[in-house]
Amino acid sequence: MVHLVDSVGERGRNYTIDVLRIQTILNSKGYTIAPGRGICGEDTIAAIKKFQASFMAQPTGLIEPYSESLRKLSDESHAFYEWSGDSSQWSQEKKLKSLTPNLRSKLQPVIEHLRSAGFRPHIYYGWRSVAVQLGLFSSGRSKVKFSFHNAQLPDGTPNSYAADIIDSRYGWTGQAEIAGFWSALGNAAKSHGLIWGGDWSSFRDVAHVQLLPNSRLQSIKQESGL
Ligand SMILES: [Zn+2]
Repeated sequence: MVHLVDSVGERGRNYTIDVLRIQTILNSKGYTIAPGRGICGEDTIAAIKKFQASFMAQPTGLIEPYSESLRKLSDESHAFYEWSGDSSQWSQEKKLKSLTPNLRSKLQPVIEHLRSAGFRPHIYYGWRSVAVQLGLFSSGRSKVKFSFHNAQLPDGTPNSYAADIIDSRYGWTGQAEIAGFWSALGNAAKSHGLIWGGDWSSFRDVAHVQLLPNSRLQSIKQESGL
């Protein structure tokens, strides 16, 4: 079952992380929720009631941990289930699957190239949830509340336009720079038509590659239904 810290909905505790989780599932099931994600407003409560009306005589508009409503919501959202959990812990194969197809096809030869040059490239993040993104934002490790990593299909299926690549021996330590991993990644990525975060002067992001320029971020956010 989907995990909630506390209740979501009418007179619920409505922690941001819980609200986002419920909104993501409701959205993926076709219940429309207006922007203002993470905040439980009238439209979220209306969507909960509409969903509950399919199996409850008197919808409460409230979803509590371990409740019948949450179980129903969990059971019926296979897409959400398959992609749940800490996405940095997923297998390399699953991380590749979480990328938008165009990025995947450009990144695969980059990884092969790095491997043949003696590096041990490892995808740290492909797709990641908006909840994880907000955590990175508030800790200062990202400068945006929505990133290309958060892109998804309107049904909630991950469709990331960015990936973070490290050498599994070095991670983000100084060893990666000494070994020349970041510049090798940047050169390989750019030669395959990708944009490398190491080229950004304001917020140098050496592990990051993305498919599109930053000017496209808002349109991708809209396409994601976020
Ligand atoms: Zn990144």
